[in-house]
Amino acid sequence: MQRRRLKLLDARPLSSTVRELTLGAVDGQPLPFRSGQFWNFYLPSSAGELKRSYSLAAAPAEAQDRLQVAVTRVAGGEGSQFLHALALGEELEADGPHGLFMAPPQDVPILFVAAGTGLSPLRAMLQERLPRPQAAPLALLFGCRTPDDLLWGAELRAWVRAQPRFRLEVTLSRPPAGWSGRQGYVQSHVRELVEAWSGPRPQVYICGLSALVQDVRRVLKEELQYDRRAIHSERYD
Ligand SMILES: Cc1cc2nc3c(=O)[nH]c(=O)nc-3n(C[C@H](O)[C@H](O)[C@H](O)COP(=O)(O)OP(=O)(O)OC[C@H]3O[C@@H](n4cnc5c(N)ncnc54)[C@H](O)[C@@H]3O)c2cc1C
Repeated sequence: MQRRRLKLLDARPLSSTVRELTLGAVDGQPLPFRSGQFWNFYLPSSAGELKRSYSLAAAPAEAQDRLQVAVTRVAGGEGSQFLHALALGEELEADGPHGLFMAPPQDVPILFVAAGTGLSPLRAMLQERLPRPQAAPLALLFGCRTPDDLLWGAELRAWVRAQPRFRLEVTLSRPPAGWSGRQGYVQSHVRELVEAWSGPRPQVYICGLSALVQDVRRVLKEELQYDRRAIHSERYD
């Protein structure tokens, strides 16, 4: 696949460890992708070139021929640290789109499950799906450490207010004193959410680190006898 040169057009912190980057094509040509897919970035490092993948965090209609990604700064991680230090106007090489982690266009109930920047491809799917004239319920179970790690929190809460069919469930692994919401990792809340689901069981879209994806898949298959064709996942490691 042909590499493209991308330029950093915009960047902002989403939390103390996550940076949102918006990149555009230097050649001005379209940057194709579908919600849920990722691009590979080629980054310089002490040991030569690194290839790192990043899920697109905004749906094509929102991104408008730009790629928006959210990058977690990993301790000792050269790729993510490079992207956290990239200055506006600087360039990198990338190719894409890649991946088959995409939701169907049909009006089906979906439970989205993520932690940290695993939210990115699910956010793109939700951005695309929520405005459609569909009725099936959609829910997002999102795990983060503290309330400050709630990525795109204002947008998620606006969706809850505007879309009666969308439900947001946040669980904190390090809740502050006085927090009355869900606590612990996402995997401990999946069973209850599926069992309480009204109507046909949802398709489940899971994204994040392998430990989370494996645990959620295990709960669905072993505790809830889920059909594996109703489980869709993307792993970051
Ligand atoms: C399909 C795909 C999509 C991805 N999309 C994203 C994305 O949208 N945002 C993103 O931040 N990363 C994403 N990643 C991970 C990304 O490609 C890099 O692995 C990550 O940025 C770490 O690279 P590094 O060179 O800094 O660290 P490395 O030295 O390569 O360290 C890798 C280790 O970092 C940890 N790690 C990787 N990703 C994360 C993360 N997101 N949060 C916490 N710990 C992590 C894992 O334990 C992994 O073993 C994706 C990976 C894949 C395969």
